[in-house]
Amino acid sequence: METILFLAHTETGGTLGRPALEALAAANSLVTGLPGSQLLAGLVGGEVQPGAGQIASCGATRFLAVAGPDFAPSRYASDIVAVAALARAAAATIVVAPATSRWNRVLAGAAQRLGGRIDAHATGVSAADGKLSLTRWYYRQRMEAVVQRTRRPWFILLESGCADAWAGATGTATVEAVAAALTDANKRTTVTGVQAPPADQQTIRPDAKLLFVAGAGWTKKQADGQAHPDEAEKLILGFLGNAQASLGSTKSLVDLSGEGHAVLKFMTHLNQVGQTGSTPRHPKGLATCCHGEEPHTVGWRFINERRAINLNPGCSWAQGKADVLYVADAFAVMRKVNELLAAK
Ligand SMILES: Cc1cc2nc3c(=O)[nH]c(=O)nc-3n(C[C@H](O)[C@H](O)[C@H](O)COP(=O)(O)OP(=O)(O)OC[C@H]3O[C@@H](n4cnc5c(N)ncnc54)[C@H](O)[C@@H]3O)c2cc1C
Repeated sequence: METILFLAHTETGGTLGRPALEALAAANSLVTGLPGSQLLAGLVGGEVQPGAGQIASCGATRFLAVAGPDFAPSRYASDIVAVAALARAAAATIVVAPATSRWNRVLAGAAQRLGGRIDAHATGVSAADGKLSLTRWYYRQRMEAVVQRTRRPWFILLESGCADAWAGATGTATVEAVAAALTDANKRTTVTGVQAPPADQQTIRPDAKLLFVAGAGWTKKQADGQAHPDEAEKLILGFLGNAQASLGSTKSLVDLSGEGHAVLKFMTHLNQVGQTGSTPRHPKGLATCCHGEEPHTVGWRFINERRAINLNPGCSWAQGKADVLYVADAFAVMRKVNELLAAK
């Protein structure tokens, strides 16, 4: 018999974001596979009532919360007190939480305080024959493992984009306040603000349907013997604006940008996809001027449909790594694509 605690922090305004709703759907799916188990919701934040109302019909038997101005910002020292208090109040044996940057920092510490265990980067949870299993990938998404544990409480951080978001009727939930006393030391860190690029300059868009990946070819000498970084920049930004795609890059290209070369000013290491970069999840991906080497394409593990544009018919994409390879000049192709998109 498991007591499953869905654990989430609220966003500004007290609501729950998409990653939290995905974790809720995952937690909910466990209840039927684990006979005798029950689901509880635990919320942390400056305000929690809107979030509790959002998931009022999720089937949780209790809605517990640690709320107030001290719990509005993401801060390890106060968050860990809140999480431990909620897990204790729920007598949770399983804690399912979204792998947000806030929870990624704090839940391992909370599991340690409670004498439990944690698995981060889970990509799925399932329950059969009274046993809970999670899946996660190792060695940069090359091997998938199925993990079971007997130690409780078991904290599970679920990666975003792996489950459908829970969707159900909103309502009014009765929230039980859980006490989480903070000392002055718990409040020593002050969050003074958030620095983020303006929305129109934000090139990493996890919810985009398409990932557009640029490779170092955009900066190389072209048929006329010249490099055309300015045109490359215009073509790429034009496409991102028109298609609302997310921008990825190869390591070679972000390294060039980092070394102060006059190339693609908007590109940073955060855009890098691959073994030493990120593993984004988008339905489709388009690689341009990118060779498609293994350390790069391993980051495409969760891209469902892959296409590439390369001048070289023998590039690595041609070795079965892309569903479609266009052997063509990416400058010419993207110029035309942008024209068509602008005319729409
Ligand atoms: C341990 C290790 C980890 C690594 N991790 C990563 C990683 O995480 N991510 C990553 O990306 N790489 C990684 N790499 C590097 C990786 O192996 C490749 O070197 C890199 O991805 C190549 O980048 P690229 O395709 O942009 O550049 P290049 O290999 O230089 O390829 C440029 C391509 O552009 C094409 N091109 C040029 N002009 C045009 C045009 N007009 N139209 C169409 N095509 C054109 C060329 O034909 C060429 O194929 C790693 C390497 C190692 C050893």
